[in-house]
Amino acid sequence: MTMLLKLLLGFLCGVAALASDDSDAAQQGPLPLLLVSFDGFRADYLRRFPMPNLKLLYSQGVLVEQLTNVFITKTFPNHYTLVTGLYAESHGIVASNMYDPVSGKHFQVGRDKDPMWWNKARPLWVTALDSGYKTAAMMWPGSDVVIGNRTATHFLAYDASVTFKQRLGNITNWMLGNGKEQGVKFAALYWEEPDRTGHLFGPENTTAMRKALKEVDDDIGLLMSELKRTGLWGRVNVLVTSDHGMAQCSTERLIRLEDCLHPNNYTLVDLSAVTALIPRKDPEAVFALLKKCHAHMTAYLKKAIPDRLHYQNNERIQPIILIADEGWTIVQHGNKLPRLGDHGYDNSLPSMHPFMAAVGPSFRQGYRISDLNSVDIYPLMCHLLSVPPQPNNGSLTQARCLLEAESFGDAPLFVSLVAGIFLVLATVVFLFRGLRKCRPLRSRRFRRLPIDDDDGEEEPLYE
Ligand SMILES: [Zn+2]
Repeated sequence: MTMLLKLLLGFLCGVAALASDDSDAAQQGPLPLLLVSFDGFRADYLRRFPMPNLKLLYSQGVLVEQLTNVFITKTFPNHYTLVTGLYAESHGIVASNMYDPVSGKHFQVGRDKDPMWWNKARPLWVTALDSGYKTAAMMWPGSDVVIGNRTATHFLAYDASVTFKQRLGNITNWMLGNGKEQGVKFAALYWEEPDRTGHLFGPENTTAMRKALKEVDDDIGLLMSELKRTGLWGRVNVLVTSDHGMAQCSTERLIRLEDCLHPNNYTLVDLSAVTALIPRKDPEAVFALLKKCHAHMTAYLKKAIPDRLHYQNNERIQPIILIADEGWTIVQHGNKLPRLGDHGYDNSLPSMHPFMAAVGPSFRQGYRISDLNSVDIYPLMCHLLSVPPQPNNGSLTQARCLLEAESFGDAPLFVSLVAGIFLVLATVVFLFRGLRKCRPLRSRRFRRLPIDDDDGEEEPLYE
């Protein structure tokens, strides 16, 4: 009987813990989430350069050593993927320079705020509004565009002259809220480095990259200290990632289109590691010339672009796509190398991959995995925020292992469930013994009541 009382007490404590958890959740909802992107942070920079602050961050959280991003490995397509979970062909931001044959419009990065380019998808800073949350997006690609007739609650028009510290200051203020306005649940913060330095000097320029990455690491240090100073550290989840890597280019690795066909034969839409063009004359003839143009360039007719690139089903993907090999640059003519470092190449190349680190109450501590698809970050963020995900190309299957709750960290819930089951079983035993006093046993089968066997075997009962 004393045992039964103890069990009852245990159960009530468990229920109380569960109830208080529920009321907290009801009052505050999920923890706020801050998503930070450092443009062009190639995964192996982490191994090549000292990054003490970033290492400190993920030592208290999780690290994904390589993120398989989406094709083409450019800034705008990949940043929109991070906040939608969609491949470029599905969200519609397929390149830095685009032509839409339906509307006849042209798009150029940084100069176009026409919603039609972005409206095929809805970014998380918009959909999270539907859950009653405030959101913020600081210079993230697309954040100053009205998408689906809405923007984030807070945003600033893109301005490269606004420092990281100023951007961060706005973000922490928006996350904190004030007497009048609630803090935001989701905030996205964009910073241009180390992409800018990577283009200017190339990723193999150790001196230049060390300097740029020291500054990036200092910014991560500032991020951590500001979150601590404002009391947000430990009360928010923070995800630090990037859009793509960087490859070293060279004047020795130029591919000149003029060597293969006259410019009168095509209209150029995008010229980069991946070149998009529209043939003006017989498409098959133009394609035949480009196909044998250069050993380090692969030409594809749109219909033959490999499925694994997920880069076909969109009218903004042009009839002919040229993909340069890693480190090769496609130019129309001449010997001038536009950039010493570039990206956009095949997303299966490790040099094109960024990384991801995360820290906060929802993440495990000191845990790392080797890889993850960047389309999986969106469902992970929706899960953290309890926001219903829009249809997307990602999955929570792999990312789930990064979460503390998946490693039995949700102790009150787990304890209450085990205690509850234990109490029910104990009550059955108690009643059974009481009944046995009243009448003789007809069968012995209840004697095997599995009170000792069925201890849950540490299975996650709350799945
Ligand atoms: Zn770039």
